[in-house]
Amino acid sequence: MSLFGATGSIGEQTVELLLRAGGAEAFGVVALTGGRNLARLADMARALRAEIAVCAEPSDLAELRARLAGSGIEAAAGPDAIAEAADRPADWVMSAIVGAAGLVPGFRALRHGATLALANKESLVTAGPLLMAEAARHGARILPVDSEHSAIFQALVGEDIAAVERIILTASGGALRDWPLEALAKATVAEALAHPNWAMGQRITIDSASMFNKALEVIETREFFGVAPDQIEVIVHPESLIHSMVGFRDGAIMAHLGAPDMRHSIGYALNWPERAELPVARLDLAQIATLSFRAPDLQRYPALRLAREVMARRGLAGAAFTAAKEVALDHFLAGEIGFMDMSAVVETVLEGLNRDFGTNSAIMTLEDVQGMDHLARMRAGEIARARAGER
Ligand code: NDP
Repeated sequence: MSLFGATGSIGEQTVELLLRAGGAEAFGVVALTGGRNLARLADMARALRAEIAVCAEPSDLAELRARLAGSGIEAAAGPDAIAEAADRPADWVMSAIVGAAGLVPGFRALRHGATLALANKESLVTAGPLLMAEAARHGARILPVDSEHSAIFQALVGEDIAAVERIILTASGGALRDWPLEALAKATVAEALAHPNWAMGQRITIDSASMFNKALEVIETREFFGVAPDQIEVIVHPESLIHSMVGFRDGAIMAHLGAPDMRHSIGYALNWPERAELPVARLDLAQIATLSFRAPDLQRYPALRLAREVMARRGLAGAAFTAAKEVALDHFLAGEIGFMDMSAVVETVLEGLNRDFGTNSAIMTLEDVQGMDHLARMRAGEIARARAGER
């Protein structure tokens, strides 16, 4: 197996499950990749006796080598080295690099027929049709790791997708869900990071507060399960105990419940098609007593409206949306633009690209996706800087 993004939140939890299930004795680990956290990457590579450890920055290679000295583990660095690590055959591959950088390694892992545990939701949003076709071509399997999609996948075991009437994605509403609407524009990074239920990486936690995360998941649902956009609903469920639901044509709804703990969906993908004992809390339903739901407010969460536009256009619109969102998030994290400016930046980028180039052209290649990513990043940077100047 190989883990891409091993040093992140999903990566750490995957490594924890692997060590718990026997570590290097039980699993043959091929590649582990990280970004800048070289100390952790080297520790993990030693603990799991990986063949190769790869970091994101070429300038970090000497330090990574030094940290692996005497272990016999190869070291490499840079985006090309990460992609090449994905060419090394591995039966099970975790795709958990954050952002658009996660697309290429996952795509290349499919070429040797791997089971791809897909946490990197940006892959399906930017290049869903390409990724699904590549998996089919090589007899590879994609297993969703996002808790919502894992829940849907589990609710569909033994079911015919044609019998599905609707898919209901649950959303916690994020850290700011109970704030007055007019206060959101002034929300700080620290406030948006105070997620009520889930402990996740920094970027996805902010995306949870803005519901850009849910917007990505709506598009991911459309691409992975092949349902029509109007079959996908979002409901705010503050307790985050129902991870998502599938409604069938006979009116039945299958809901997946569990503690808000990513080790469940990671472990499900790791053990699929079997189930193994996992170290997650068991729900005490009598103590929980009530589960609550509310409709999402589209003024509070413009990202959900934008997701509908992206699905209507399809093609390269997902790449533009994801890239613009990442840049807007960078500027918010740097304190340069406000919380609500993020969706305004993304909307302006989408409108501009659609007007000038038409983002709804059919996706042809990964290069087309990367080209649109680049363009949208440049536009989003310009627009975000202009907004920062107005503040
Ligand atoms: P983190 O930010 O915690 O970790 C990201 C990982 O990617 C780290 O290993 C990081 O390295 C590495 N990385 C960052 N930038 C690059 C780059 N340019 N090239 C190569 N590697 C890079 O993210 P999460 O674990 O939270 O999320 C990973 C993916 O899983 C995301 O797509 C997210 O949307 C998705 N996801 C996450 C969930 C969660 O609970 N965390 C839930 C569902 C989906 P380093 O830290 O060493 O710099």
